[in-house]
Amino acid sequence: MTPTENIPVIIILFGGSGDLAHRKLYPALFNLYQQNVIHDRFAVIGTARRPWSHDYLREQIKESIEETHDQVNEDDLKHFLSHFYYQSHDVTHVSHYMALKKMAAHLDETYHADGNRIFYMAMAPRFFGTIATHINDQHLIGSGFNRLVVEKPFGRSLASAQKLNDEIRRSFSEDQVYRIDHYLGKEMVQNILPLRLTNPLIKNVWNHDFVKNIQITLGEQLGVEARGGYYETSGALRDMVQNHVFQIATLLMMPEPEALSATAIHAAKQMLLDHIVLPDPDQMRKHFVRGQYLGNDDTFAYRKEKNVAPDSTTETFAAGEIKFNAGPLAGVPVYFRTGKRMKEKCSRVDIVLKHMTNLYGRAHSNNISIIIDPVSEFYLTINGKKIQESGIRREDLKYRFTTAEMAQVPDGYERLLHDVFVADTTNFTHWSELKRSWQFIDAAEAFWQSDEKTVPMPQYAPFKMGPKEADHIFENPHDHWIYR
Ligand code: NAD
Repeated sequence: MTPTENIPVIIILFGGSGDLAHRKLYPALFNLYQQNVIHDRFAVIGTARRPWSHDYLREQIKESIEETHDQVNEDDLKHFLSHFYYQSHDVTHVSHYMALKKMAAHLDETYHADGNRIFYMAMAPRFFGTIATHINDQHLIGSGFNRLVVEKPFGRSLASAQKLNDEIRRSFSEDQVYRIDHYLGKEMVQNILPLRLTNPLIKNVWNHDFVKNIQITLGEQLGVEARGGYYETSGALRDMVQNHVFQIATLLMMPEPEALSATAIHAAKQMLLDHIVLPDPDQMRKHFVRGQYLGNDDTFAYRKEKNVAPDSTTETFAAGEIKFNAGPLAGVPVYFRTGKRMKEKCSRVDIVLKHMTNLYGRAHSNNISIIIDPVSEFYLTINGKKIQESGIRREDLKYRFTTAEMAQVPDGYERLLHDVFVADTTNFTHWSELKRSWQFIDAAEAFWQSDEKTVPMPQYAPFKMGPKEADHIFENPHDHWIYR
């Protein structure tokens, strides 16, 4: 069993000079170091193309910690930084893996790391397969535990994901692979199961007799920024729906797991995903919409972004419907929409309950809303009487985390890295789950590609809720988005 404190391990971080490492991974490692999850018996080898020295890497990490922490104990930080090493590395050069292997073996001895290794791929996804192959061919695997953390996106279709998985599986078994979806580290995403399973008020209506539809909105206010080149190969469906939307939908729709173990939770997810309805052309036409942001002038036009083709057909917004034929909500539509340059940064789920005839006539139904970002919040929309006139008014029964509570919430990356250290795979995506979500995305993409010549890409004004067509994807024409 993996110990939970002072874990002996050598971490090899591919992409040690990158944005993710700087903004998320180094601060998360520092917090875990302060919690004693790693402490004396760990070392990190940061690798990247640039010819940095150990000291220069340490300087960069120091900056990253100081940027993300209000107060830092200088001695702690100094000790933490002394565990970091740099290896200039080109992912395609065999000799660099040999050097890496030597350094890992040396540090293993120095830090008594027991032959344990964590490999973290924090690089452009096109390199994942090459790195996995070299880890295997140059025998970088340690004599203790070996774990591989893979960033998103895991492929760009089922076929490419399968190819990548095959490459990875030459060195790592499925239970050694940690496919990161940082949404699974978010407080309110982790709160979905407790909310569902511990409240009779919610649990008893969590079925297709009571729930009318579920709405998932993952909106970003930013555009593609400097990532136009990557985004052109992806689009909203692959970038957000295949992973984040699917993981959230699965937690909402899956049958109650038999236990809270990783095995039981993955079994419940798999059971649901085995009953997904793949969208056919008729459903695609009626219930799916894509779009691209375009301002009145060119200021916010996607096609004018850096590294974006002037005639790009990449969608920056996608809305659609996901359905399952099993689980407590079998047949209940999950509507999603996600996009860049939307009204505001907002990730939320709205569970819309069915209307009920009542003596007061036109009372609305209840909604259960889970706000994931930018605040952690949960509310029930209920009916009550108006005070000075007859009739019914709506009220939100709200639970919002206090600022003090929010300050204690660990970043998603810190949670997930902790889980990698203690070998808890609950909040990582299994290959068999991923396969099902890619089948769904492939079906949708195939339709959009065949449709491209006949149906123009809807455009949407920046800082709104996406193209107006997305307001009409509902099966019941009287339904609408709760969040507008
Ligand atoms: P980045 O471009 O900032 O960093 C890439 C790293 O790869 C750099 O360290 C660079 O030196 C290194 N590199 C590039 N080519 C190389 C080569 N030929 N040989 C060796 N090293 C090379 O990218 P990033 O934003 O840090 O993203 C890394 C991964 O994390 C991607 O898969 C991305 O999708 C994922 N991710 C990033 C974020 C984020 O906030 N940045 C969020 C979620 C997921």
